[in-house]
Amino acid sequence: MRIAIVGGGAAGIVAAITSKRLNKDLHIDIFDANKAIGKKILASGNGRCNISNTQVSASNYIGEDTSFVEHALKVFDFKAFENFCKSIGLLLDIKETNKVYPLSNEAKSVVNLLILSVESLGINVYTSTLIKSIQKNNNTFTLKCENNEYKNYDKVLVSNGLGAAPQLQANESGIDFANSFDHSCNMTYPSLVGLQSEVDYHNRMQGVKKECLVSLYIDGQMEQEIYGDVLFTKYGVSGFAILDISQLAAQALSLYQDVKISINFFPKINRNDLANQIQNLFKALPQQKASDLLIGMLSNKIPSVLLDICKISHEAKAKDINNKQIKALSYQLNSWKLKITDTQGFKHAEVSGGGVRTAEVDNKTYESKKVKGLYFAGEVLDIVGNRGGFNLQFAWASGYAVGNAISK
Ligand SMILES: Cc1cc2nc3c(=O)[nH]c(=O)nc-3n(C[C@H](O)[C@H](O)[C@H](O)COP(=O)(O)OP(=O)(O)OC[C@H]3O[C@@H](n4cnc5c(N)ncnc54)[C@H](O)[C@@H]3O)c2cc1C
Repeated sequence: MRIAIVGGGAAGIVAAITSKRLNKDLHIDIFDANKAIGKKILASGNGRCNISNTQVSASNYIGEDTSFVEHALKVFDFKAFENFCKSIGLLLDIKETNKVYPLSNEAKSVVNLLILSVESLGINVYTSTLIKSIQKNNNTFTLKCENNEYKNYDKVLVSNGLGAAPQLQANESGIDFANSFDHSCNMTYPSLVGLQSEVDYHNRMQGVKKECLVSLYIDGQMEQEIYGDVLFTKYGVSGFAILDISQLAAQALSLYQDVKISINFFPKINRNDLANQIQNLFKALPQQKASDLLIGMLSNKIPSVLLDICKISHEAKAKDINNKQIKALSYQLNSWKLKITDTQGFKHAEVSGGGVRTAEVDNKTYESKKVKGLYFAGEVLDIVGNRGGFNLQFAWASGYAVGNAISK
């Protein structure tokens, strides 16, 4: 039996290894647009590769129907994944946060070991080969690239991801392949990405980084709260809390909903206590400028912007700030609102949301419900995971599910 795998990422590689181990007679060709397979794994986790998470469930994913992931995650749970890693010679480092990294702390070891395994199993790899179309005639599939065509495949796996990180050859051709087989897809959007907002003080705040509580409002409704780092940038905001909140924010933006975030710089201090602290500070040093005193509690880029927002003169002395102004300062620090206008786009995103509709794919075999012999796995599907190793875990698990199915 001849199998073609379009996309040698996490999903495609695991599918190839799994199926070939189960059925040595399979002829498997992996096609990848990059010069080598596994490029995105190499870039993951800043080169360290947050490869998985010990606590994975459907609640860690976003998509039209996240229950779709349950079967694959159950069959290929963390223990099964750990065993798979051992079988290719990869040891893991499990952190207290449940995040999992290669023991070597290098994504390179993951990719090298996967490639070794692919080679030793006799799986063929066509690199620098961008597949342009997939067709099915008389029960076999033909793949076409710019100058060549590859014929007579009994089964084809589409595991070529989506558009996040186009600098790594990511693209949306998987959507075209799916559409050409009459599959429908949900709108794609960049996810785990910085958020843009239109305010005139970005340059003045650029570089400010603080642990904050970030609340996300979609069409006026509070949808999510995340505690973590916020980094002010020249375009808006980034940092771990923002990346996390970007998943729902970006999805809402793609649906043209109104998106706002509110940043609480002092989540552990309630607004009245914060006002009292500012008042006490001002009372203790009444002749000092308020802008100078605020540097005692805030990064030095914030006070001038804060005073502007609260319409207080930069020259005002502490003794001249009245109670109403103190309340305004504490209110602003507790709920610094930003209207989100856009994301930083696919180029800066870790993953893509949206993709091939899971309702049209079997949740056990990952075979198309429309075309026999056609399979989808990994990010190309309308499933996107939270930050923390969940995206790779879904790619591994869905690849494993396909690997089992196509081996028969
Ligand atoms: C910078 C960055 C950091 C990340 N860090 C993490 C992390 O630490 N933990 C985590 O869980 N997730 C992380 N992710 C997300 C994770 O890497 C992906 O979700 C996962 O790799 C998706 O795997 P996949 O196999 O579905 O697709 P991909 O890994 O995207 O593989 C698809 C492959 O298909 C190839 N391809 C595309 N189109 C074609 C075509 N037409 N013909 C032939 N080949 C084609 C591409 O070259 C690519 O190699 C990160 C992503 C990025 C960009």
